[in-house]
Amino acid sequence: RKSPYNIDVNKIANITVTKSVVDNVHDIVRKRLSDTKTKHVTCEEDNAFFIADHNELREQHLRWKLHLPRIEPFYAVKANAEQQVLITMASLAAGFDCASKGEIDRVLAIGVDPSRIIYAQTCKQGSYIQHCRNNNLKKMTFDNADELYKIKENYPDAELIIRILTKESKSISDFGRKFGASLEVTKGLLQLAKDLDLNVIGVRLIIGVHCEPIRISANSLLIVCYVRISSYHVGSGCFEPCAYRDAVERARIVFDQAEDIGYKMNLLDVGGGFPAVNMENEISFQEVASILNKAVDEMFPKDIRVVAEPGRFYPSSAFTLCTQIIARRVTAPDSADDTNYMYYVNDGIFGSFPAILFGQLHPSLKAIQSKGKLLYKWSGQKLYNSSIWGPSAAPEDVLQKDIKLPEMKIGDWLIWNHMGAYTTVLATEFNGHRKSKIYHINTTAVVL
Ligand code: PLP
Repeated sequence: RKSPYNIDVNKIANITVTKSVVDNVHDIVRKRLSDTKTKHVTCEEDNAFFIADHNELREQHLRWKLHLPRIEPFYAVKANAEQQVLITMASLAAGFDCASKGEIDRVLAIGVDPSRIIYAQTCKQGSYIQHCRNNNLKKMTFDNADELYKIKENYPDAELIIRILTKESKSISDFGRKFGASLEVTKGLLQLAKDLDLNVIGVRLIIGVHCEPIRISANSLLIVCYVRISSYHVGSGCFEPCAYRDAVERARIVFDQAEDIGYKMNLLDVGGGFPAVNMENEISFQEVASILNKAVDEMFPKDIRVVAEPGRFYPSSAFTLCTQIIARRVTAPDSADDTNYMYYVNDGIFGSFPAILFGQLHPSLKAIQSKGKLLYKWSGQKLYNSSIWGPSAAPEDVLQKDIKLPEMKIGDWLIWNHMGAYTTVLATEFNGHRKSKIYHINTTAVVL
């Protein structure tokens, strides 16, 4: 089967890193290298930089369509709000999950129809709700009574989605502590919405919750879930696929509560938290998808529209970050074998890596430059205890505390994998360091 992007759809599920990204990174770094050999290197040429491969966004979308055909993605802009990323996502006919007026404006500015946006923040500023009314953006979430009164005052015609809490939150981001209505209060909230004559159209789940199914059955799916109960997914907010089933069961309960009150809801929003990259011994996107598909099909008839809010899933692997070693310290050289290298690179915790602090980013090196050569594997080389530090004055600005690397020199490059989610959106210019520039490419065509 051929996809519209000329990709073999049958092979998509197994792709982890596209060859094209590796080749393009290589070419661009080589070009940079020859530039830095010239006498006068500008700061611009010397800075760290991203390569964003939009073909990877398309391949992720194909994976999505292949594994979750019934579920429409509403891309969570918070993961990566670069305009070019939004344009590519819009071209894939995706919807958007926005959490603020700023994100809404970015999406509207590229010409997306407001019907393709969900304002997925349950605690909103009143003026932002008015902004939605002025722009005919109807879908928004709520999880508490005060929000209902606020919406009644600012946008009584809005289409509301109740965000519910699932049992026990143990995700990397403990959303359950901040958002979501428990099953004990959902009925009261729906009744209040009805009394206020508001239009509730659906339920939104919080994913990334601890696996504890409501009922235990001999169902083999649940057995799989129990086996995986303690597993941890690096790079994703969601730990256990069965959390999805548990959450869908709770959504069904709330749909039934709404029906008792007189609502006929037609939207199920299964939220975000989908694994961005399949890793060995970790829960895969495909596993999550198969459990979710089954649960949704079992509990929700086909006329219910099902959407999701994937964030990291889309941009994570599309972005590769190239950092240059700007300084080096050699420490504890008791003997030649003992040599420790401290490398300082030109992007760090206050730039593209702050998500390390929230446990949302586990940076891994895709390639390094050693002795003038770009290496994608370096296990055969002589390795030294090394650490990698960001450029700021802060001692917390460390990217890798303990890593084995071959000897590298000032001016060499370190190239980081999967840097597309919760990186550029969180970057600051602390200490006067500029944010890393992004080069957008489409597999082979480089747009500089
Ligand atoms: N939707 C909402 C409302 C969120 O708060 C988040 C994460 O913060 C997401 C979607 C996306 O999460 P992820 O990047 O884990 O898919």
